[in-house]
Amino acid sequence: MERIHVAVRARPLPAEDARSSPWRVSGNAIALSTQPSTRFEFDRIFGEECRTADVYGARTKHIVDSAVRGFNGTVFAYGQTNSGKTHTMRGSANEPGIIPLAVHDLFRTIEEHLDREFLLRMSYMEIYNEEINDLLVPEHRKLQIHESIERGIYVAGLREEIVTCPEQVLEFMSFGESHRHIGETNMNVYSSRSHTIFRMVIESREKVDESEAGESCDAVRVSVLNLVDLAGSERAAKTGAEGVRLKEGSHINKSLMTLGTVIKKLSEGIEGQGGHVPYRDSKLTRILQPALGGNANTAIICNITLAQVHADETKSSLQFASRAL
Ligand code: ADP
Ligand code: MG
Repeated sequence: MERIHVAVRARPLPAEDARSSPWRVSGNAIALSTQPSTRFEFDRIFGEECRTADVYGARTKHIVDSAVRGFNGTVFAYGQTNSGKTHTMRGSANEPGIIPLAVHDLFRTIEEHLDREFLLRMSYMEIYNEEINDLLVPEHRKLQIHESIERGIYVAGLREEIVTCPEQVLEFMSFGESHRHIGETNMNVYSSRSHTIFRMVIESREKVDESEAGESCDAVRVSVLNLVDLAGSERAAKTGAEGVRLKEGSHINKSLMTLGTVIKKLSEGIEGQGGHVPYRDSKLTRILQPALGGNANTAIICNITLAQVHADETKSSLQFASRAL
């Protein structure tokens, strides 16, 4: 199968934090200057001067192109809270994220495939405490994962909106965001504890002339593109969590740990050899299963901060990311 691409993105730091940073980045390698043996190498390290469009061009564009040609794909943003996952995936006021960039590209790319006609659908969901909620239909909560011969693995009752232009997709997204949180102040806390899956389903078939209608036996092609903003990777134990927070933390840890294991098994090629990949151990990996194994394309963008205070957390993010290589 395709190798899993892993890139690291370091977010900008205030000048004084940058001066006191314990990390040294050189090309595609990163190391602690105090412990040169703690050295990691990746496909690509994006420094703080990079733009999301650079990350998109280098790490996501080919996945979008393949999705149009019928191959499933998944892109993850991994990292501790405040490391820039949402900035990378959804974007901020001054910079579009990978989701809007991919959506525009997707519509542009299907235009180039003159011989096929396309039907695009989008969905938007979150996994919070191992419960799946539909962000497009606020009342659709605690959805279940089903599997059937016709549909494969799917989230029962999840709304799929047919979309015909990028603006419409982005409108549905902002609708999804708008009813998500009770209070502004809780927003960061909440989003750091939930995984968000933005999904486009791309269906296409060969165009046929009127005269040939009925003669074509071209099958319909269906592929899925998932763009995932993961929950913060910081460990519950470290933040002194108790009660509900601890429960949330352990769910997050479990699903991120399962994701790590699944990705490691895939990168080792275990699946092709008939080995066991524990997709079923978390909702996240179960939902994404069809777009992770087989001939799907996968990329992980590991968001980090090079600040001294977060050195331990950054080190564990880098360890997670290097397991996928
Ligand atoms: P996360 O989703 O990982 O918790 P955010 O994406 O919300 O983190 O980033 C935290 C803050 O830092 C936000 O205000 C965001 O706009 C800013 N930020 C993160 N990465 C960058 C970047 N590469 N360039 C500019 N601002 C950034
Ligand atoms: Mg976020």
